[in-house]
Amino acid sequence: MAKLQKPKFAYMGGKIRSWDEATLHVGCEGVIRCAHVFEGVKGYWQPDGKFGIVMLRQHYERLCRSSRLLHIPFSHTYDDFKSAIYELIGLLLEPDRDMWARPTLFAIEGHWGEDTVSDLVVTAFHQDKQLPQSINLGVSTWQRSSDVSLPSRVKTGTNYQVGRLAKIEGRRHGCQDMVLLNQWGRVAEATGSCLLIVREGVVCTPPVTEGALESITVDIVEALAHSLGVKFDRRPIDRSELLVAEEIATCGTLCEVTLVKSIEGIPLVNDGSILESLQNSYHQAVRGIVPHSFVELSYLPSKLVSVKTG
Ligand code: PMP
Repeated sequence: MAKLQKPKFAYMGGKIRSWDEATLHVGCEGVIRCAHVFEGVKGYWQPDGKFGIVMLRQHYERLCRSSRLLHIPFSHTYDDFKSAIYELIGLLLEPDRDMWARPTLFAIEGHWGEDTVSDLVVTAFHQDKQLPQSINLGVSTWQRSSDVSLPSRVKTGTNYQVGRLAKIEGRRHGCQDMVLLNQWGRVAEATGSCLLIVREGVVCTPPVTEGALESITVDIVEALAHSLGVKFDRRPIDRSELLVAEEIATCGTLCEVTLVKSIEGIPLVNDGSILESLQNSYHQAVRGIVPHSFVELSYLPSKLVSVKTG
């Protein structure tokens, strides 16, 4: 299991700071009530030497929606948000390593939602370039909370408590990730990604109303599937369908399209499969090898790239 990286810098309070300086007060609501919302965005080196961040505007828009739902004010314009991410990534970039950034909006002042003041904090980490390894997937006994307890469309750390418990449970059974069911016992999503299954040649994923995040990667995969002539359906998925699915993958910004090699200990065959083709199309689109019109890339201005790319 990879350790959490400790990069040199983070963005906080409107400027770049050293990692050790980027701290929150123990009394703020961001800490004591986990009042924060966040995003995970990913950037890839492109064949022409540029560095492209995938669907940055869509991530900004989801952060705005999450902040509205949790009453955490967010005053950054898209341009402010983009500049903060560009500045930090520009400082941390290394040749030939991709990066993911975590912009988080913390409640740093206020009490029980009154007089809330927020701060945008950005951290960013390096990632290797290889395709994600196939995983063993289990089904957790922990459940995604319902829309009236903690809406899954809010991307907040609190929603990841259940995912954390599910991961701990999964490790006991040799599973790298776990499916979370919803309050009706149907498939919601995985701990930090959405779920795709193939039934009779159709790629299916549960709609957001089944307890999944409004995923940007699922939207990309849907567009790629259409281009490949593969049918794509957003519909409720029973737990038992996982066991009879032809193929399964998890899908999200960080895990991209990660193929599942076994579900609850039952092996799945992935060679030459539909999801493997989608995994490759995704890989090629975000890395600009075979660009796709749906996949928007925001390029880091070259003046901000401090790394020597040769
Ligand atoms: N569900 C959860 C719980 C997640 O953390 C993520 C990753 N952000 C996703 C789904 C997939 O969302 P996206 O494709 O926008 O990364």
